Amino acid sequence: MKTNLKNLNYKELEKFVVERGWQKFRAKQIAKWLYNKKVTSFQEMTDLSKDIRNYLEENCEINTLELVTYQQSKIDGSIKFLWRLKDGNTIETVLINEKNHKTLCVSTQVGCAVGCKFCYTTKDGLIRNLETAEIVDQYINVQRFLGDSEENRISNIVYMGMGEPLANYENVKKSVQIFTHPDMCKLSHRKITISSSGILHQIRRMYEDKEFPEVKLAVSLNASYQNQRAFLMPISQTNTLEDLMDLLRSIPLKPGWRITLEYVLIKNVNDTLEDAKRLVSLLKKDKNRFKVNLIPFNPFPGSDFERPEESRVLAFEKVLWDNNIATFIRWSKGRDIDAACGQLRKKELLQINV
Ligand code: SAH
Ligand code: SF4
Repeated sequence: MKTNLKNLNYKELEKFVVERGWQKFRAKQIAKWLYNKKVTSFQEMTDLSKDIRNYLEENCEINTLELVTYQQSKIDGSIKFLWRLKDGNTIETVLINEKNHKTLCVSTQVGCAVGCKFCYTTKDGLIRNLETAEIVDQYINVQRFLGDSEENRISNIVYMGMGEPLANYENVKKSVQIFTHPDMCKLSHRKITISSSGILHQIRRMYEDKEFPEVKLAVSLNASYQNQRAFLMPISQTNTLEDLMDLLRSIPLKPGWRITLEYVLIKNVNDTLEDAKRLVSLLKKDKNRFKVNLIPFNPFPGSDFERPEESRVLAFEKVLWDNNIATFIRWSKGRDIDAACGQLRKKELLQINV
């Protein structure tokens, strides 16, 4: 089996180099070619000796993803990419054009085991975890696709595509190490956000783990009280809302950083003014610690739920703002291409949209 160098963090890449009898600084050179120049073949690594290049060509692979198709939204320019992995599974990545920057929404698993009732990704359960290289290659391939000009540079990464990032802890951690390392992708820590459904022991582990680069946390709350959350998100039966909020109130935050709470608004399920008021009570003690992202539910074939009318979404938002809770509505980017992160799914989707 060929080694994939993008499965290695910087320390491991140095070890790989030294074990082969090459000088340590070769790691820096290789990292530059992989993550800065984003080359597609080892022979392009021209400051390595011919012997090293040939060794790498024979023993290592350089890309894990094959582009199957992509679609660009006519509304906001967002692009949804569909990739085929080596084993034939497919995953999606969404490039979101924000006003002044570009954000990439990456997948971390094929499918998801968590089973939230409103989520398309989990319909067939978990198929497998993505390798580190498969996560990092989503960024490398999209950036290569866009070209490396200043205005096309991806500055932000959100782990909000297919899968539960903290259920693929080690590979996600390593991908964050690669994204933030100064000799690798060089992305800013504060521009990376990991979104979790709220697996408490994994959130704790992440904050205690000295090797896990400090990045932002988003948690999918999606409900204003325990029974409602347990109904929508089975994970909440054991990881209760109360314990989740206790944990989120206690974790250390860097100055100016907030935890994002995502709240998918589902018509007549969790979108009433009473829900909004309950949400205010949940957050009122620590207003500055949180911000709320309201995501109007994105319907998909076979789902029982509906998206609330715009007026209802705005009324919900108003209750939060009236109580000084920073709240933003995330109308899905690229609604015309069904690009909402978290409900992306392979063939069926293609049949619907292409
Ligand atoms: N598993 C992680 C990250 C992926 S899901 C998590 O749950 O946080 C990313 C976001 O998409 C979550 O906030 C989730 O609540 C939301 N989401 C899932 N299905 C959705 C749908 N059909 N419409 C709108 N948002 C959805
Ligand atoms: Fe998994 Fe997130 Fe979808 Fe829940 S919302 S099923 S955790 S991907």
